[in-house]
Amino acid sequence: MATSSARVDLDGNTIKPFTICMIGAGGFIGSHLCEKLMSETPHTVLAVDVYNDKIKHLLEPDSLPWAGRIQFHRLNIKNDSRLEGLIKCSDLTVNLAAICTPADYNTRPLDTIYSNFIDALPVVKYCSENNKRLIHFSTCEVYGKTIGSYLPKDSPLRQDPAYYILKEDTSPCIFGSIEKQRWSYACAKQLIERLIYAEGAENGLEFTIVRPFNWIGPRMDFIPGIDGPSEGVPRVLACFSNNLLRREPLKLVDGGESQRTFVYIKDAIEAVLLMIENPGRANGHIFNVGNPNNEVTVRQLAEMMTKVNFLYSLVYAKVSGEDSIESPTIDVSSKEFYGEGYDDSDKRIPDMTIINKQLGWDPKTSLWDLLESTLTYQHRTYAEAVKQSIAKAVAN
Ligand code: NAD
Ligand code: UDP
Repeated sequence: MATSSARVDLDGNTIKPFTICMIGAGGFIGSHLCEKLMSETPHTVLAVDVYNDKIKHLLEPDSLPWAGRIQFHRLNIKNDSRLEGLIKCSDLTVNLAAICTPADYNTRPLDTIYSNFIDALPVVKYCSENNKRLIHFSTCEVYGKTIGSYLPKDSPLRQDPAYYILKEDTSPCIFGSIEKQRWSYACAKQLIERLIYAEGAENGLEFTIVRPFNWIGPRMDFIPGIDGPSEGVPRVLACFSNNLLRREPLKLVDGGESQRTFVYIKDAIEAVLLMIENPGRANGHIFNVGNPNNEVTVRQLAEMMTKVNFLYSLVYAKVSGEDSIESPTIDVSSKEFYGEGYDDSDKRIPDMTIINKQLGWDPKTSLWDLLESTLTYQHRTYAEAVKQSIAKAVAN
């Protein structure tokens, strides 16, 4: 384990231990960030969330080497007066709390807008009024659609990176019309970014905004009917994992033609730690955090996950080759899958110039490698429970 004396920042200065108020610490990203901070740094975390299942292994037992450096505070930031006190007694606030699953954006647009804008307002205000640093989690979705998506299908300009690479300081934010409620999330995130930026410009708030580009890995979302609602629709990694565990076809929304770049959660957490420990280089910046080398269509992602899952089954679950399902994918319309008002981002490739220049960060893990370790985790965590739930359903 690292000690405080051994740690220096990118400019060679000794890093002093911080107290971090982490809101949304019980979620996917929060759990990995807490793990990293506990195992590799001397910092203290005040972990705020309404749930703590994903960080239980860090909170108990009292004999853990970092006991005393992480405290869980179960509170809903919508309506809890303890929030300001926690921010006041921290050096830095990291705000991860949000509704951030696309299935909610068009079906629960009010909750989505409240969660991503209104509920984040007091956090920004308390940081600004108390002169505390804020690292706020936004999204790559604030870019919306690419300029290239509006060009004719056969236009050669579609191949020109100027029409699709997403740059923090120059790319526009292009959303669909208001009845396409999918964009309620992106729009709320954009407005909170603008508010934070304005607090920086007018009131001197020290802020960093993070735009994650499809971070994936263990503990992402839930498996419907196992540790989440049976009818719930998580993000694509968990949807496809669920299909594979249940040995049912993977559903491709509108043909699975949309493109995404996926980054391994552990690579991305390295970037966040650099931001935390290098305020002089991170303050005042908006950072894309993604892996431009891991681009696939959703259809290709389904094919890769099916292959990785097949190999896992052969090696570890002793499933024979003939047992693999014949039709591994099925096309569904977005209206059928998500309901009215869904729309999609066509392509998301992050420009890496700013994060590279300020923090020297680059992602390392290939898509094959990250899928292998993530699907191994999914099998070890869920295979038995899924098997039992299928057996129960058949018996009934
Ligand atoms: P997550 O849903 O796993 O975590 C969010 C956590 O916030 C949850 O544990 C939830 O209980 C908590 N929370 C929500 N509302 C709260 C409230 N009112 N009070 C207290 N706690 C509350 O999501 P995640 O993937 O870890 O994402 C974290 C942040 O990163 C979000 O702001 C999200 O918009 C952003 N983001 C993530 C990705 C990604 O690739 N994972 C992509 C784009 C943006
Ligand atoms: N998707 C899909 N099948 C699923 C779940 C998602 O085809 O079972 C598609 C979805 O329409 C989108 C992409 O996968 O094009 C990524 O979806 P995700 O929910 O991970 O979030 P997004 O990247 O859109 O924010």
